[in-house]
Amino acid sequence: MLKNVKLVLAAALLLAILAGCATNPVTGRSQLMLVSGQEAVASSYQAYSAMTASLQQQSKINRDAAKVARIRAITGRLIPHALAWRSDAAGWKWEVNVIDGPEVNAFCMAGGKMAIYSGFFDQMSPSDDELAQVMAHEIAHALSDHTREKMSMAMASDLGVQLLATGAQASQGQTQMAHALALYVIQMPNSRTAESEADRIGIELAARAGYDPEAAISLWKKMSRLGGGPPQWLSTHPSNETRIAELSRLVPRVEPLYREARGKRQPVYSF
Ligand SMILES: [Zn+2]
Repeated sequence: MLKNVKLVLAAALLLAILAGCATNPVTGRSQLMLVSGQEAVASSYQAYSAMTASLQQQSKINRDAAKVARIRAITGRLIPHALAWRSDAAGWKWEVNVIDGPEVNAFCMAGGKMAIYSGFFDQMSPSDDELAQVMAHEIAHALSDHTREKMSMAMASDLGVQLLATGAQASQGQTQMAHALALYVIQMPNSRTAESEADRIGIELAARAGYDPEAAISLWKKMSRLGGGPPQWLSTHPSNETRIAELSRLVPRVEPLYREARGKRQPVYSF
């Protein structure tokens, strides 16, 4: 019985893959999209609230009020400008929290659910401009539907067939599968193409909000000085040198946006 279910699901998946490529309006690139935008956002919300509730229980979230206030002020300035790339982001339930942990990491899931680890502050001693660059980069992943794309790729893999088969047997199959997928893809590295897209959109987003584009370069220089090789989540990221070279080419392009925004009073999203 299970074998039949798997076969049927695998066939359904193959059909979905054949029909599942869509051109992304933000990046102009064709992406495999087996999950709808609403499904990706809904499952990210579920996974994020389960994650934060569990961190809360372990007292591992928002323990340093100064860090929380700082990251909310910075992302609050970035969010209004994110709408320039996609207007539906105005309806996202944006949220950012500081997770207690040594990782030099941050993320933004589909639908604007963000987090940054305390390790990022402790190990990088970032300036506000550098924090803005990392969060703008993460927001750019969400704007470009990279979570949705990773969920689709996971579904198209063996893992997806297994999750679907498990889900089909469970009473709340859909929900559990979506939840498992959303959690899985947070840990899955982005492709190099996705990284370049997030770098390009991120540096422009930060410039529009009045954050210095040069900070994108100082951020990656600091990152390479950390030593011990890139963290696991960066394993498929472009090498630091390639990335710094690409970002250096982008700086003069967004510099006028930065100069224009710097003198202006910025709109702020309130969480
Ligand atoms: Zn990235």
